Amino acid sequence: MRGAVLHGAHDFRMEDLDTPILKENECLVNIKACGVCHSEIHQWDRKIDGLEYPRHIGHEVSGVIENIGSNITRFKKGDRVAAWVDGKGYAEQVAVQEDRLFPMSDSLEFRHAILEPVACTTNGVMRANIQLGDTVALVGTGFMGLILLQQIKHVGASKIIAIDIRDEMLSVAGKLGADVLLNPLRDNIEAVIKDLTNGRGVDVSFEIGGLQTTLDSAADITRMEGKLVIFGYHPGERIIKDLGYWNWMAFDIINAHFRNLDTILKGSRIGMEMINAGKINMEVLITHTMPLEEINKAFEISKNKPEGFIKSVVINE
Ligand SMILES: [Zn+2]
Repeated sequence: MRGAVLHGAHDFRMEDLDTPILKENECLVNIKACGVCHSEIHQWDRKIDGLEYPRHIGHEVSGVIENIGSNITRFKKGDRVAAWVDGKGYAEQVAVQEDRLFPMSDSLEFRHAILEPVACTTNGVMRANIQLGDTVALVGTGFMGLILLQQIKHVGASKIIAIDIRDEMLSVAGKLGADVLLNPLRDNIEAVIKDLTNGRGVDVSFEIGGLQTTLDSAADITRMEGKLVIFGYHPGERIIKDLGYWNWMAFDIINAHFRNLDTILKGSRIGMEMINAGKINMEVLITHTMPLEEINKAFEISKNKPEGFIKSVVINE
């Protein structure tokens, strides 16, 4: 089978790879789509010290079961599935353990059954434990923020405030049901939100951008004893600029990152149920698709974010 192997900066190469040999608890999946994840861009953009190249990456897979191991009971050949895989998703086939496979509805397109990000957002929303009537702010409404927005609507927030520096993202957030759209390049976020909340600040803020500025903004707009949910990924050393203020405001700091496999699989199962039930509109979020052979281009687009870009997916037609 064919697969894309990452050799270094901007250098995926299509190669002939061995067909995976199935273990008894695995299914062989013919990959139809694999989402390009924000967390992968840096390994493609430059060769990272300490990471082994060539690399087989890609973890946001959907496809059709081609073959099953001897112990498989829940799936059969021909089943449509979304999968959480540990790399090797940019290929024609991958072997996946049964507990990492989730049925996808017949009406769904493969490119829209991109599960792993939804597992993260599902766990993030559940850990935030939003209460009925809460005012919630999303600081950064790219792909992940726009999924969070849709899920938060289902848990009963009274008002959802979308904050982003890209107006086109705010306009999508508006279409998906955000109540207030704010652009920090134009709006005084803190003042507007104080105004909207009788001077208190929001009950729950989600910091999604993974930047010092988004973290600071989230702290600025959260009410005393409100929840500050750190959903953004902050690699390396960062300093919380004003821990004294966080102390004084008695924030409930929630780290919405998940490494425990059981947690990831639980988020996957619940997230997939929401996608299958049509509760998350993925169609509007998947803006770019490219054949596997053009994977370097798919990464370039994900890095450069041309106008209208939200998320790119590599497909095997
Ligand atoms: Zn991902």
